[in-house]
Amino acid sequence: MNHFAYKDGELWCEEVPLSRIATRVGTPAYVYSAATLRRHARVFRDAISPVGASDSTRAPLCCYAVKASGNLAVLSLLRREGYGFDIVSGGELLRALRAGAKANTIVFSGVGKRDDELRAALSAGILQFNCESEEELVQLSRVAQSMRKTAPVAVRVNPDVNAKTHPYIATALSTSKFGIPAARAREAYRLSANLPGLRAVGLACHIGSQIGELRPFVEAATKMRALLLDLRADGHQLINLDLGGGLGVSYGEGTTPVSPEKYGRALARVLRGLDVRLLVEPGRLIVANAAVLLSSVILTKLGAGSRRFVVIDAGMNDLVRPALYGAHHEIEKVSLRDGAATKPQHEKRPARVRVDVVGPVCESADLFAQQRLLPPLASGDLVAIRSAGAYGMSMASNYNARPRPAEVLIDGARVRVVRERESLEDLLRGETT
Ligand SMILES: *Cc1c(COP(=O)(O)O)cnc(C)c1O
Repeated sequence: MNHFAYKDGELWCEEVPLSRIATRVGTPAYVYSAATLRRHARVFRDAISPVGASDSTRAPLCCYAVKASGNLAVLSLLRREGYGFDIVSGGELLRALRAGAKANTIVFSGVGKRDDELRAALSAGILQFNCESEEELVQLSRVAQSMRKTAPVAVRVNPDVNAKTHPYIATALSTSKFGIPAARAREAYRLSANLPGLRAVGLACHIGSQIGELRPFVEAATKMRALLLDLRADGHQLINLDLGGGLGVSYGEGTTPVSPEKYGRALARVLRGLDVRLLVEPGRLIVANAAVLLSSVILTKLGAGSRRFVVIDAGMNDLVRPALYGAHHEIEKVSLRDGAATKPQHEKRPARVRVDVVGPVCESADLFAQQRLLPPLASGDLVAIRSAGAYGMSMASNYNARPRPAEVLIDGARVRVVRERESLEDLLRGETT
């Protein structure tokens, strides 16, 4: 459920028409709905709350994956909903802390962390480092020792399950760069026990993203449960089980994602009696459908034959998912009202036209939809690219020397610009001739 809907032929976000936002902040702009973010955060948190021990200190912790969308206002809203954070860099650590996160709600993932990033996280006192190789265990121990600290670690294990998602976002196949193969996990924990700068506190995995069925999650959780018991039998006192993120969402193409309730019930079943604190790292599930990318039509053009192009002012640098993954995003015309009031009833719904919606970037991959049936679009019309909240702004670049979009957070009738549009001068910052 989200809070983007038509009222009288106009697309609104909560209590604000999107056309008003375009007038005020210009386009392209990411528009987030606070009510949607809160709702998604609560539904997911409630769904997993029965998992694990009843002792309240062991209540599950949701660590939102900052890389999905790291705007400070988004992070701060989620912090207020009781979320912790999953970070993958020193930059994301700074974002989480700046958004007010308590260090003991932060887990640090990633296949290559630099010494300075480890130092910053150790200074802050984060909850857990998810280490992805034997060499990283050695590195982290060395850095921690140099600071006279002990680093709380989990080994991220690759459980070798097929998440049946796009190959670029499947992370748990045996050929993946992520994690340590499950067969070497016990050895890795033995190593960690012998490293003076480390204290093993958990076990972690993350099997991929945009996963549309329950089975891979159950398979991974089952393997992790067995492994956790083996590791405890080996003498490691592991208190956290981090099962990562990866729940898919609907991008409007008839996919029915796994419901958080089913996910929570399945995990509760698999982990029953385990006495462990569950950590989960949802990203996409929380933000994907909580934002649109608002854009204006620059012009339309006719290609060869009868191919029609609608060129909009958002490009692959603003939202790369279609170019990178061939991802589908619904596109909606913001105002369906043009002249409708003067037309007879049966003509009010405009005929649809088959078009390619493309950006202005000089790459053939810069397209948002091919041969899509949309209401007629002309220069100046506004469109909303739906489900753009996750891996949207956080993956935006300055390619073609294009300033990145503004970000706007709507909360009821309140409009807040939570990141200003970059200026042309911003693009040159730090450069010399
Ligand atoms: C990307 C990532 C996530 C979030 O994945 P979603 O599919 O957005 O839920 C969680 N954990 C780790 C380690 C990740 O790399």
